[in-house]
Amino acid sequence: MFKPQVNEQLGMKLSTYLILVHMLVSGRVWASDWGYTEENGPHTWQNNYPIAVKGRRQSPINIVSRNAKYDSDLTFLSIAYTPEDYVELKNNGHSIECQITKTGYLTGGPLGNQEFKLAQFHLHWGADDTRGSEHTIDGKQFAAELHLVHWNTKYDSFAEAANMSDGLAVLGIMIQSGEEHPFFSVVSDNVYGLIQPGSMVTIPSSLDPIDLLPANIDDYWTYEGSLTTPPLYESVQWIVFKEAVAFSSNQLDALRSLIDSDGNPMQDNFRPPQPLKGRHVRASFQ
Ligand SMILES: [Zn+2]
Repeated sequence: MFKPQVNEQLGMKLSTYLILVHMLVSGRVWASDWGYTEENGPHTWQNNYPIAVKGRRQSPINIVSRNAKYDSDLTFLSIAYTPEDYVELKNNGHSIECQITKTGYLTGGPLGNQEFKLAQFHLHWGADDTRGSEHTIDGKQFAAELHLVHWNTKYDSFAEAANMSDGLAVLGIMIQSGEEHPFFSVVSDNVYGLIQPGSMVTIPSSLDPIDLLPANIDDYWTYEGSLTTPPLYESVQWIVFKEAVAFSSNQLDALRSLIDSDGNPMQDNFRPPQPLKGRHVRASFQ
C-alpha cells in the first residue's frame, strides 16, 4: 500500500509521461517558443525577443523603389558556388532548409572584398499565391521568397558570425507563380519525405545553388537588416534581387503540404515588413 505522498509522486510522474507521449504523438516535441500562429506569431516575438521592436535594423522591410538611392560603388556580385552532388533537406519546423555541404563563396557588391560562405537556403511562402514573401517591393507581396544564407569567413564559424553586425549576407529572391522551375524540382519533388517537423532526407541528385538565382543578378537592392526569425540578430547585409523567379503552382503546393512545429500546415511562414528607422536602401541600378 502506497503512502499518499508516494502516490502523489507517482501520479505526477504518470502525468509527465502522458504529456511526453502526447507531445511525441502530436509532433509537438518540435514546438519552439515562436511560430506563425495567432498565439506565437510575429506580433508576439517581442515577448521573448525584445529586439523585435527595440532593434534599429529589423527585417524584412518594404522596399520603396523610388526611395532607393542608386550607388555606383555597388559593383558586380561575385558568386562562386560548387554544385552539391546530393541534396540534404530538412523540415526544421518553420521552413524547409537545404544544408550546403560544398564550398561556395559570395563577394563583391555591398560586401566589397569580404568573403561570405554559403551555409544553407530556405524559403518563406503563403497559404496561396497572393502572399508569402517577407520583403515587399512597392507594397507588393510575392508568393514566396528564397533566402540563401552566407557567413563572413573573417569569423571562425556560422555560429560565431550569426550575431556580428557584419556577420551574415543573405540573398533574397522573390518567387511568383508561373512556369515550373526545373532546378527547384529536386526540392519540391521530394517533400513527401519531409512532411513532419524534424524530418531529414538526402536526395541522390545534384543541385547547383546558382541555378536558383534569377538570370539578372546585376540589379539588386541592398540594406542593413536582421534575421527574420528569432533570435532576430541584427547581423545581415540583405541583397534582394529586382528580378523575380517563377515556381509552378504544383511546386508551391508541395511546400504548403509540410507540417510545422505547431502541428499545422506550414503556410504563411513569413514575418511582415518592419520599420525602416532611418535606414537607406541602396540600388545597384538606375
Ligand atoms: Zn528566411
